[in-house]
Amino acid sequence: MYRTHTCGELRLSDKQKKVTLSGWIQRSRDLGGMTFVDLRDRYGLTQLVFNMDTDASLCQEVRKLGRECVIQAEGMVAERSNKNPKMPTGDIEIQVKRFSILNSSVTPPFTIEDESDGGDELRMKYRYLDLRRNPLKNNLLLRHQMAYETRSYLNSQEFIEVETPVLIKSTPEGARDFVVPSRVNAGQFYALPQSPQTFKQLLMVAGYDRYMQIVKCFRDEDLRADRQPEFTQIDCEMAFVHQEDILVMFEGMVKHLFKAIKGIEFSSAFPRLTYAKALEKYGNDKPDLRFGMEFVDLTGSAKGKGFSVLDSAAYIGAIVAPGCTEYTRKQIDELTDFVKKPQVGGKGLIYIRMGTDGSVKSSMDKFYTPEDLLAIAAVAGATAGDLVFVMAGDKIPTLKAMSELRLEMGNRLGLRKKNVFRPLWVVDFPLFEWDEETKRFYAMHHPFTSPKPEDVQYIESDPARIRANAYDCVINGAEVGGGSIRIFEEQLQKKMFKTLGFTDEEAKRQFGFLMDAFRYGAPPHGGIAFGLDRLVSIFAGEDSIRDVIAFPKNNAGRDVMADCPAEISEEQLKELSIKVVKL
Ligand code: ASP
Repeated sequence: MYRTHTCGELRLSDKQKKVTLSGWIQRSRDLGGMTFVDLRDRYGLTQLVFNMDTDASLCQEVRKLGRECVIQAEGMVAERSNKNPKMPTGDIEIQVKRFSILNSSVTPPFTIEDESDGGDELRMKYRYLDLRRNPLKNNLLLRHQMAYETRSYLNSQEFIEVETPVLIKSTPEGARDFVVPSRVNAGQFYALPQSPQTFKQLLMVAGYDRYMQIVKCFRDEDLRADRQPEFTQIDCEMAFVHQEDILVMFEGMVKHLFKAIKGIEFSSAFPRLTYAKALEKYGNDKPDLRFGMEFVDLTGSAKGKGFSVLDSAAYIGAIVAPGCTEYTRKQIDELTDFVKKPQVGGKGLIYIRMGTDGSVKSSMDKFYTPEDLLAIAAVAGATAGDLVFVMAGDKIPTLKAMSELRLEMGNRLGLRKKNVFRPLWVVDFPLFEWDEETKRFYAMHHPFTSPKPEDVQYIESDPARIRANAYDCVINGAEVGGGSIRIFEEQLQKKMFKTLGFTDEEAKRQFGFLMDAFRYGAPPHGGIAFGLDRLVSIFAGEDSIRDVIAFPKNNAGRDVMADCPAEISEEQLKELSIKVVKL
């Protein structure tokens, strides 16, 4: 038997017990007559003590061992004279009578402590060592718990987990596919699923009216932001449902997770915002509701004083930074530089400073009298002591830049607290998105998303104004889930493909199997998928999803530990009937 107990288990009530522990040497300290070793396993740390007076040879032996060596130690549980209240096992120690080395370790490339001295790349290269550290271990335990609670909730609601294939025909999520060559079908390729979308719809046709799966999805996207080429979804579909049924069911799931994992109870329903309102108030379809600072539209009230920046603008918006009147010139310049960054896209930043004494000062006071400025500030909802930011330009880019400014101000004012959670639903997304470059419409969600019945009439005349039965679940400024009610009638689906620029043949070639299935009695259905990685990272208070994935890829999509992707041998290529030509 390697162990009688784990390294996180023993307490004062176990005093005098003879025990055997196995684990890794976290650190050791020699204090002349005594050597202390902290032994670690997944469950915690226990202090081992070796006594030079009574067991000299044992003590000398253990002093030779370095960090991360794996040992087995036998001894007696004793009360510590110097207790450590910060450790669950801090009241006791093991007086070791015998130990054996199970395996030695070379010196690790970084210290395995909560705060490590290893840089990102190094820790990724030795991920198995990084995973020994508490922060990552806790994240993996949390992830396990969340997956478990997800299954438990959905199981209680009659969902069944069905596995769908990984080698498939292309799916329609709008990213690039990863492809896999087929050896036995030379020159032909499978795609890896961007999601199990088509399969879960086929399961509805097959009559399994509540499906779920915690499943890997693959998208060959540019990896800017915090994305991974492979990621995990909680993928779900239901039949005989309207949008409302889905929202209620999955609000229930999110609430269950908060309650079971964090002990947080949301007593009222999550707020719902239409896509149009979300853009109007926050410039963003995934607003962070942990703080206010909603936009105020000044387009109708701030023009006409000869200031061409405002007079010529299609949109003028304001954000009130509460209590920020004391912002220095330097701080305002910094924010001006921030909004002008190409990724933010603002043209400039105008301010109105509301003095606590009722005075007003502004970067546009050449054109506006104090009375004008106070009137504008009043429309914006600002009061004494506030700082009002005004931005102007074309509507969408200005809203987008204001969104970035709002989030930046939220950060600066400490309003985006990691332990505050503000979930909401964003609904009524547009069905289509126009792409200027290719001059065509794309499905904003995917081509199976249904239009609002009252908007279907515009499918030929004005597709841009059609709203979809599509919804996102958003928490703290991150989209954690999204889905839609699907089209289940053949004729409407055909119109949809046509608007998206698919010819009949193309649609048939790509999704013929699904269209065929729909001819055999497809029930009304809809679904949603949550990003498990993102959800766990929000619960864990981590900024990056990498910190909640056991073996993630780096920013360039590489596995730096195994060094992949990598070239394959000539022989393998030949078997696959593939020749690599570098372009
Ligand atoms: N398949 C969709 C996605 O991956 C989710 C859904 O519509 O259910 O975003």
